[in-house]
Amino acid sequence: MDGLLTFLGTGTSMGVPTLGCDCAVCNSPDPHDRRLRPSVLLRWREAGKASGRERVVVIDTGPDFREQALRNALTRVDAVFYTHSHADHILGMDDLRPLSFATFREEGPIPLYATPETAKVLERIYDYTFSPQATYPNRARVQLHPLAELTAVHGVEFLRVPLFHGEMKITGFRFGRAAYLTDVSAIPESSFALLQGLDHLVVSALRHEPHPTHATVEQAVSWARRIGARHTWLTHIAHELGHEETNRALPPGIRLAYDGLSLPVNLEPLNR
Ligand SMILES: [Zn+2]
Ligand SMILES: [Zn+2]
Repeated sequence: MDGLLTFLGTGTSMGVPTLGCDCAVCNSPDPHDRRLRPSVLLRWREAGKASGRERVVVIDTGPDFREQALRNALTRVDAVFYTHSHADHILGMDDLRPLSFATFREEGPIPLYATPETAKVLERIYDYTFSPQATYPNRARVQLHPLAELTAVHGVEFLRVPLFHGEMKITGFRFGRAAYLTDVSAIPESSFALLQGLDHLVVSALRHEPHPTHATVEQAVSWARRIGARHTWLTHIAHELGHEETNRALPPGIRLAYDGLSLPVNLEPLNR
C-alpha cells in the first residue's frame, strides 16, 4: 500500500521569515524560503474498505496548523502523533476542534498519541479540553493515548524511534519505508537499527552553526550517509539557510524539504 507524505511546515520554531528580521532569506522572493512551523501529514486509502476511505495522520500540530490544514484542504484527521511538547509542535492542537466534531460523530474522539511527558504539558495547557471537570461544550473531541512502541492506525504501523533533543528525550516515527525525525540533536545507537531500508528519511537540520538542541546541516548529512536512505530531506530549517544556495552545496540524494512537498511512500508493514 502506498501513501502520500506531505510537508505541512519545514521551518524552525520561529518560522521563516522570522519576525523582525531583515536578512536575505527572510526577504527572499523564492516561495521555498517561506517556512511554516514543522509538521507532516500522511494520507493513504484504507485497504479492504469498499469505499477506499482516505485516512489522514498528522505528526505534531504547531501554531500554524490551521493555515496548513487550509492550504492542504484537510477535511478530516484520524490521529495525531506528537514528537515532544515544545510550543512549535503543539500549539495548534485546539484547531483540531472543527475537524474533530465530524470524526467524533462517526468514530469517536481523535486519538492523540504522546509520551507521558508530552501528555502532561498538553493536559496543563488545554485543561479546558482534558480535565475531567471540563464543561466547555466546544472543546476538541480528542483523547490522549500513551505512545506505544508500535501503533497501528487503520492498517498503517507507526514505530516509535527514540531520539534526543538536547537533554530532552523525544520521539521520531517510522512508517513503512519512511521516517520523520525532527528536533534531533543525537540519535541513540539502538535507534539506528530501526532506520534500515528507508526510501525517505526526514531529519531536522537547523543551520550550519552548532546549537545545543538541534543538529547542524553537517551532522544531519553524516547521519543521512550512515542511515543510507534513498532520499534524505532536511526540515526544521532556520533563516540562515537559503533554499537554492543550500541545496546546491548538499550531496546527491540529500535536499532541503519545503512546505507543500509531497512524496509517495510505501507503507507496507514493517518486517521486524
Ligand atoms: Zn521544534
Ligand atoms: Zn523542540
